[in-house]
Amino acid sequence: MNLSCDVLIVGGGIAGLSLASELASRGGPTVALVEAESTLGYHTSSRSARQLNPSYGPPVVRRLTARTLGLLAGVQERTRLVLTTPRSYLLIGSEADVAARAAGPMRRVTHAQALRLCPQLLPDTFEAAGLDTTCVGTDTDALLEYHRSAAVGSGAAILTGARVTAAGRSGGRWRVRAGEQEISAGVVVNAAGAWADRLAEMCGAAPRNLVPYRRTAAVVRVGSQPVPGTPMVASADDSFYFRRDEAGVLISPCESVPSTAEDARPNPGDVEALIVRLNTLTTLGITEVVRSWTGLRTSPPGGIPIVGFDPDAEGFFWLAGQGGFGFQTSSAIAELAAAQLTGQEPGDTQAAAELAPAAAG
Ligand SMILES: Cc1cc2nc3c(=O)[nH]c(=O)nc-3n(C[C@H](O)[C@H](O)[C@H](O)COP(=O)(O)OP(=O)(O)OC[C@H]3O[C@@H](n4cnc5c(N)ncnc54)[C@H](O)[C@@H]3O)c2cc1C
Repeated sequence: MNLSCDVLIVGGGIAGLSLASELASRGGPTVALVEAESTLGYHTSSRSARQLNPSYGPPVVRRLTARTLGLLAGVQERTRLVLTTPRSYLLIGSEADVAARAAGPMRRVTHAQALRLCPQLLPDTFEAAGLDTTCVGTDTDALLEYHRSAAVGSGAAILTGARVTAAGRSGGRWRVRAGEQEISAGVVVNAAGAWADRLAEMCGAAPRNLVPYRRTAAVVRVGSQPVPGTPMVASADDSFYFRRDEAGVLISPCESVPSTAEDARPNPGDVEALIVRLNTLTTLGITEVVRSWTGLRTSPPGGIPIVGFDPDAEGFFWLAGQGGFGFQTSSAIAELAAAQLTGQEPGDTQAAAELAPAAAG
């Protein structure tokens, strides 16, 4: 055995890294994290829109988001790192769609107010609007690096290029093959993102019917760039969003197309079609694509992340299915998971119950 630990986290995205930092900083269990790729955060965690929206998602997700914002504010105060900056969120669309999506801290604003907030919007293209001023943008690279360095600084081992290819139990512990390493672990945490069901099957746990859904984004150059402080703008029917980016504007067609677990790549047609559409809905005047990317937002059928010990597979802990909320819920979910992994009562017992993996049918 090359390495022995109490908790082995599989997956070096935001889910795995935030748990590693939370667990390691508590002291107690020894922690190792293995990541298949040579770079941490290579898959979905480097491909997000970098926005934390307390009004986005089902109620439990919104609660976890608010908690994450509070925890990150504490980290920033302690470390003086800049991990988040205020960036409000403007929802536009038909009366019915905005009413259906305006939740949590989002409040309604008038049509005229919406146009003042984002002058690039054309007046005839939407009826109603909602604004959430509690949202923040996040520097995801800085956040991933903060968690990596906090975890390593507290004694966690982090191995990249270490894909888990086999796992089994013997003598009440896991024996895991990860790259060249043979690892002995008390608990395996499944933070494998789009590959979470595959890892579960490798570990003899029942899969949870997680589906990776493609979502593409692009940074484009524009004739009329929104000024700093302009909210992120999203259509309430979930057909696009855009926001200012240093290099121009970040746009997404918000597609949700089921995929296999893979290194997803954009279909150029998706971005081109959105550019045509946004050039008719706004005065942004998009001229060219700087770069585009696609990530996989992986969700279980219920749409709520799965966090907790598998009731049927001993020593197997789920940290999966974060869908489009992985960053905005990350610190709160890490806190919840760390409490369960160290035998403590989670602070938010209701969230713990809602996210708990059900027994396999
Ligand atoms: C376009 C887009 C926009 C988004 N915008 C936002 C946003 O604004 N706010 C927000 O909160 N969320 C957003 N999301 C969602 C967010 O990015 C994800 O929820 C989050 O990154 C998921 O993190 P993760 O750690 O679970 O998965 P990943 O980052 O995919 O990490 C899983 C890791 O596990 C590794 N792995 C898999 N199998 C193995 C194995 N056998 N052995 C070792 N390692 C393995 C993989 O290599 C991978 O690195 C967005 C997503 C997309 C695609």
